[in-house]
Amino acid sequence: MILPAPIQNLVNAFSRLPGIGPKTASRLTFFLLTAPDDLSQDLAAALSALKTETTYCQTCFNITVAGRVQCEICSNPDRDQDVICVVEEPLDALALERTEGFHGRYHVLHGALSPIEGIGPEDLKIRELLTRVHSESIQEIILGTNPSLEGDATAMYLRQQLEPSQVRITRLARGLPVGGDLEYADQHTLLKALAGRQEMEN
Ligand SMILES: [Zn+2]
Repeated sequence: MILPAPIQNLVNAFSRLPGIGPKTASRLTFFLLTAPDDLSQDLAAALSALKTETTYCQTCFNITVAGRVQCEICSNPDRDQDVICVVEEPLDALALERTEGFHGRYHVLHGALSPIEGIGPEDLKIRELLTRVHSESIQEIILGTNPSLEGDATAMYLRQQLEPSQVRITRLARGLPVGGDLEYADQHTLLKALAGRQEMEN
């Protein structure tokens, strides 16, 4: 059966999303076809606003509302100005925010070092982090990259790069599921990892 182009186009687009195979893509498309009109309208509106109405904070590179230079966390004077938690993705920062146990600010790298995937230091917001450490009065950097091969390698690299700065450098405690993502850890585990963070030695 050959699908009409508008249907096939949506199936193709859904198939490009992570975790969605051709079957799920077809199921979602046919669901939308018969669902009330307002659902596809809401979806279309939300999708088109996703990129145009968001931007990156110019300090921590977390997601924020378009038009802002700094995100709400960076511009909040009540947050500890001298502690930065370095994470791989905005969702990791969100996971830590949900614990309500961290009161400093973040730095989002937008990935982790991965020689296999060809991701080097220049592909991440590492230079921006080093600039922050030099220009702001930072006392502690918590390395909150994922407990995976790439996350650990990234933490080690940052440890070396930050060495000359004399800043206290800690790593989130073990106990997080190895190979897992921060964003999937439950709040209790994350709080424990935060509280049990340890000095990172070379
Ligand atoms: Zn920010």
